[in-house]
Amino acid sequence: MYSQEAKVLEENFVSLEIPAVSDKIINFASGLPDPRTIPVKDIEAIAIEVLEKYGYNSLQYAPSTGFVQLINEISKFVYRTRGLKTNSDNIIVVSGSQQGLDLISRVFLDPGDVVVVEEPSYILALNVFKLRRVRFVAIPVDDKGMKVEMLEDIIREYSREGMRIKLVYTMPIAQNPTGTTMCDERRKHLLELVERYNFVIVEDDTYGLLTFEEETPKPIASIDKSGNVIYLSSFSKILAPGLRIGHIIASDDEVTKKMHIMKQFMDLGTSTLSQLIVEVALKKGIVDKVVEYAKRLYRLKRDIIIELIDEEFSDVVSRTSPKGGFYTWLKLNRNVDTEKILELSRKKGVVFTPGKRFCINENKCLDAMRLSYSNPSEDDIRIGIRILADILCGVL
Ligand SMILES: *Cc1c(COP(=O)(O)O)cnc(C)c1O
Repeated sequence: MYSQEAKVLEENFVSLEIPAVSDKIINFASGLPDPRTIPVKDIEAIAIEVLEKYGYNSLQYAPSTGFVQLINEISKFVYRTRGLKTNSDNIIVVSGSQQGLDLISRVFLDPGDVVVVEEPSYILALNVFKLRRVRFVAIPVDDKGMKVEMLEDIIREYSREGMRIKLVYTMPIAQNPTGTTMCDERRKHLLELVERYNFVIVEDDTYGLLTFEEETPKPIASIDKSGNVIYLSSFSKILAPGLRIGHIIASDDEVTKKMHIMKQFMDLGTSTLSQLIVEVALKKGIVDKVVEYAKRLYRLKRDIIIELIDEEFSDVVSRTSPKGGFYTWLKLNRNVDTEKILELSRKKGVVFTPGKRFCINENKCLDAMRLSYSNPSEDDIRIGIRILADILCGVL
């Protein structure tokens, strides 16, 4: 009775562990922003201002690819903050980058197409690609990002069999789930490959502004000459996820046209009120304010969690050193399925996300886990890590 798509999604479904307001759980599982970073009062004032100024138009249908005012603000914002020069015609506002991923997949992918992903990679992106029934190639991530060296060999191997790579999905800055940033050499190499072999790169820059280093590399889209890099980002982690505003930037007019058509089909357009709120928040510098505050807060939380992990269970795990973003990725030194550990920790009020869900080769990640330090308070991070340490020491 149900469609193939519904079955694929159900098989790969993961609970986002979004807690009910009354829940007392310490949540290392989801990528929820720290509540203190969401500027409720500012957004309240902006919402009233928008409703008064635009009246019914703020609740009317909007152009399906996004309001021009918002697009112009986004264009200025990405240039100012990320050095990405764009033409407003090539920006599409989407209902969160999740919709952006789905939209891009629908425009480019057919069943059987070869898609390269990082291993581990972002679960919800993997699910979008699974839904298109693609063939996956997974390239490991180390502390310098995706091992781009391997990509060239893979491309050659496929071409010997008369096949080609269609799309590469990458998060070069503060990757989800490892927190690693791709080094310059690999970024350059990736761009050389895209120029030579003509595939599509989807660059997910969601954490591009939430980094802890002195300098953050610019997006690869900003130095690309091939026109094949599609840039994707979102206001979910730097303003408010509930507004559901993300953006896609392509440099090719033909690509944008195809995406415009698909966007209209998907939902007729992103929430009008949300778009106007984000436009004003950008204009008033609210987003800049959140970014400044959030960067400091997440850096502090990263320091706390890393120090505790090293103190409490350095003998049983290895971990990544996040350069930004919300997450650290742990690997246990022994072969234990972290799903089992989750069962135990849930009973003690602590949740995290088991590693295998981030991996195409699930077996390679059974002993891994992603800890998100973005949402729990500093105190809860301390309490939660101690609880996890007790469980790990008991099991290992
Ligand atoms: C959180 C996150 C997103 C954001 O998704 P939205 O749909 O914009 O809320 C996108 N990509 C990655 C890697 C993320 O972690």
